[in-house]
Amino acid sequence: MSKRDYYEVLGVQKNVSEDDLKKAFRRLAMKHHPDRNPDNAESEAKFKEAKEAYEILNDPQKRAAYDQFGHAGVDQSGGGFGGGGGGQGGFGDVFEDIFGDIFGGGRGGRGGGGGANRAYRGSDLQYNLELTLEEAVFGSTTDIRVPSMQTCDTCSGSGAKPGTHPQTCPTCHGNGQVRIQQGFFAIQQTCPHCHGKGKIISDPCNDCHGQGRKEKQKTLSVRIPAGVDNGDRVRLAGEGEAGVNGGPAGDLYVQVFVKPHALFQREGDNLHCEVPIRFSTAALGGDFEVPTLDGNKMNLKVPAETQTGKQFRLRGKGVKSVRSSSVGDLICRVVVETPVNLTKRQRELLEELDASMHEGGKKHSPQEHGWTDKAKSFFKDLFEGDK
Ligand SMILES: [Zn+2]
Ligand SMILES: [Zn+2]
Repeated sequence: MSKRDYYEVLGVQKNVSEDDLKKAFRRLAMKHHPDRNPDNAESEAKFKEAKEAYEILNDPQKRAAYDQFGHAGVDQSGGGFGGGGGGQGGFGDVFEDIFGDIFGGGRGGRGGGGGANRAYRGSDLQYNLELTLEEAVFGSTTDIRVPSMQTCDTCSGSGAKPGTHPQTCPTCHGNGQVRIQQGFFAIQQTCPHCHGKGKIISDPCNDCHGQGRKEKQKTLSVRIPAGVDNGDRVRLAGEGEAGVNGGPAGDLYVQVFVKPHALFQREGDNLHCEVPIRFSTAALGGDFEVPTLDGNKMNLKVPAETQTGKQFRLRGKGVKSVRSSSVGDLICRVVVETPVNLTKRQRELLEELDASMHEGGKKHSPQEHGWTDKAKSFFKDLFEGDK
């Protein structure tokens, strides 16, 4: 098969400069581009031919080989000189090279929000709200101050000084975009005159400097429902940033952070607290008053011979769930305290008590006995394992 000369394909002289080579290819590519010539086999063939020629001649090394050896020097299937790698492959690379500057601008314009009077939704905002455990559990109403972009009152969002009006941009006639003809391609670009706004403000509003929006602090009264927990979010629809060109405002999300409490820890809908008790009370049993989160007191009956770590559950004294009607429990964990600051008399009583513990063969410290037994068998196993 005989191939046409690459220079001939592109319609250029052998000594063509890189710039002119590029121009020649661009002209041909636009003329024969498949998008412009759907279902036209001849155009497609011409497009491919031009692309191949340009790929070779645009590469100084391949061009030198072609100049010296002709098609044989660069024939990729024939394993000639410098075929290297992705020669035939990428449509993208060479295409990008040629059209990147055109399409790059066009894409940016479209994607970058050129639309003249297009309405944009304002951004969502997040506000981090610290609550006490009580506020989170029982609900509260609190005022928060939120900085946000608000429609300028002075110009009602137009950006023009009161009494004047923004003028339609003469360059784009209010479209915000202009069409540029590049060969067969008509390309939309953001209007360079009004930067896509479609309007020209000759007399900008003094308050917002023509932006139509201003940063303002607004005070909102937020009702926090009972039962919210760390990380919960309360959504206030439409309280985010003002929209642009009459677009809807964004939403405000109030994110809840619960401060640690001196007495209670929350786990799901349950509340936990530790109750220190005297060791004598732990042994003899007794009644206690424990506080509940709502500021009341509950009676907690601790039976005789209660050990440290024993948990007592006060049903329904936890948190009412924000998502269902279920109510959690208050779980009190008993911690037995060793007495300190003993008087002489108290020491004597304890020594007497201690001595009595060794009489009569009864086990008064179940955990200690259990532990001693385990330790014994541990050493025994160790000893026998040695043999
Ligand atoms: Zn204004
Ligand atoms: Zn314009």
